[in-house]
Amino acid sequence: MPVTTMPMPDDNNDAWDVLAAFDTVLSADFDDYATGLIPAWQVRCALCQQAPCQCPPFGTPAYIALVDARHGRPRQS
Ligand SMILES: [Zn+2]
Repeated sequence: MPVTTMPMPDDNNDAWDVLAAFDTVLSADFDDYATGLIPAWQVRCALCQQAPCQCPPFGTPAYIALVDARHGRPRQS
């Protein structure tokens, strides 16, 4: 069985490379928040892209469909 290791930032990759390895989707407002331009309450959700978050309840079919849509995955049936 192959051993899977979690990528970690090092001399060969940075934190963005690690996030990309996990197919991470960030809020479009992440940079503005991280640089102090906007407060946390104005950061749009990475999933529903609304501020405040308007996501369906965690784990529901609507929530899973939203996750799949944000990651560009075909809809599970
Ligand atoms: Zn949301």
